[in-house]
Amino acid sequence: MQNPSDVLMKILMQWPNDKISVETFLKTYSGYLTEEFDRASLVQPIRSKNLKLSQPLVTEGVAKIFVYVPDPFLAVLLKDNENGFRLHIFTFQCTNCFGTGISGSEVCDVCGGSGWGTL
Ligand SMILES: [Zn+2]
Repeated sequence: MQNPSDVLMKILMQWPNDKISVETFLKTYSGYLTEEFDRASLVQPIRSKNLKLSQPLVTEGVAKIFVYVPDPFLAVLLKDNENGFRLHIFTFQCTNCFGTGISGSEVCDVCGGSGWGTL
């Protein structure tokens, strides 16, 4: 079985960019994405050159990995029965609260307190 870091790195090395279209990417890699994966996430600019991954945090079939591009992204992968893991969520750190989930003394209303992406 492939570990989540290998699956994620494989996906990120072929992430759509000005040379690889989303359609081309999906032809080969849709099997590594969950049904619910938001295809709109694929427009986020990822340059594989300076990529660093954290160790995966794996609990109950869910793997979370920080990706430093060098801006921080969060990847959430779910265990499946075929490839091992599939990418479920790929999201950027909230630019309003910088991942804290707190804005002033309130719950950040951009990310809903999660610290990641937007509502
Ligand atoms: Zn926020």
